[in-house]
Amino acid sequence: MSARIFCFLLLVVSPFGMLGAQRSYPTLWSPALAERPDVKSALTYLERNFPKQVEEWIRIAEMPGKSEHEQERGVYLRRMMEAEGMSVTVDSIGNVVGRLKERRPGPTIVFAAHIDIVHPPATDLTVRRDGDTLRAPGIFDNSASVANMLAVIRAMRAAAIKTAANFVFIGTTQEELGLRGMDYWLEHNPKPDILVAMDGGLGPINYGALGIYWTRYFFTGPGSHTVTSRGKPTPVKALADAIGQVYALRFPPLPNGAVANVGQVHGGAIFNGIPQELYFTMDLRSPNPALLDSLDGEIDRVVVAAARQEGVETRKEIVQHNRAGGTEAMLTNARSHPIVQTAIDVHNFLGIDIGPSGKDAVATGSTDANMGVVRGIPSISIGRSVGGNQHTLSEWAYWPSALPAAKMVLLLAVALSDGTAATSRVVQ
Ligand SMILES: [Zn+2]
Repeated sequence: MSARIFCFLLLVVSPFGMLGAQRSYPTLWSPALAERPDVKSALTYLERNFPKQVEEWIRIAEMPGKSEHEQERGVYLRRMMEAEGMSVTVDSIGNVVGRLKERRPGPTIVFAAHIDIVHPPATDLTVRRDGDTLRAPGIFDNSASVANMLAVIRAMRAAAIKTAANFVFIGTTQEELGLRGMDYWLEHNPKPDILVAMDGGLGPINYGALGIYWTRYFFTGPGSHTVTSRGKPTPVKALADAIGQVYALRFPPLPNGAVANVGQVHGGAIFNGIPQELYFTMDLRSPNPALLDSLDGEIDRVVVAAARQEGVETRKEIVQHNRAGGTEAMLTNARSHPIVQTAIDVHNFLGIDIGPSGKDAVATGSTDANMGVVRGIPSISIGRSVGGNQHTLSEWAYWPSALPAAKMVLLLAVALSDGTAATSRVVQ
């Protein structure tokens, strides 16, 4: 059967299926952009300087950078941006904000890469090269993006990229503590037209925002020596019971449902006694605001019931509540914004597989872009390299993949700025 007849049959048999699968969205991408002499020269610059990009990536990854202790990375980023002639400011939460000095009439486009990592200062951050793989805590999340960002800035400057947009490049802080740096910057600056977070594995594109609720649940009791502990209320049982019940809760999975994880259990210091206080932490995420709140409420009820059953006290400490952006169905406007399809088209152009999500962008995300999504700013997150085991000591990244990642960021920046007129028509 020829392809044409096959397509025709599909259209006749299942017109809605075809529409669903192939719905066309506005894009600012055109392959002709990659042929523009300035863009070509920027891409060549990235290729030629790729070994240096990898060296810099390693250098950044070896700097301490636990959230709230990102200073060394910040100072480095600032120095590198200033060396490119950018005007750079550091705000009071430590975000390093670099702008190209020239004021342009077009939109303001923010590219943000968080500079913090989850690993404490004592961690050995020495990067091991293992063939095509780099191994070190934080090598993937998010040192790769910081190096990509610097590479793209240099390529744009070296090739004198023509653009109508005002680019703002931000190294954000405290992302791992709940996107605090990005939240702070958006609270204290005029709304940008577009926000692109550089974070996550290379491939998936996110245009939504998982709501993220972090909670500590405490259980307290009078305590006792082990010898006299028999039959006495113990916060340990209440906590264990509550955690068991949390994991027994039934709810739909992501991308439209939720995920709940107990990340920490703390308390007790000795063998020979009932502890007086324990707590566990809850990391609850969903793109659906209603589901997020109802699950949060259910977990509260489970905790209170377990404490009452055991005869101990309980209290709840809200560590952070980051709002949910909405489910896929609630975000059809965000999906229709040209930044999403443009990002998809650039990935396809470069042959970057956008992942198992059916070749489409996904309406979830746990990056700095969330802070834009919940403020109604057209926002996406795009990846940095192929890698894995993030937030563990065995984190790794496949270094050759950072080259297509950097090219993707460059082409995305060019396409978004080039489509100024189209963009300003669509942005509400
Ligand atoms: Zn990250």
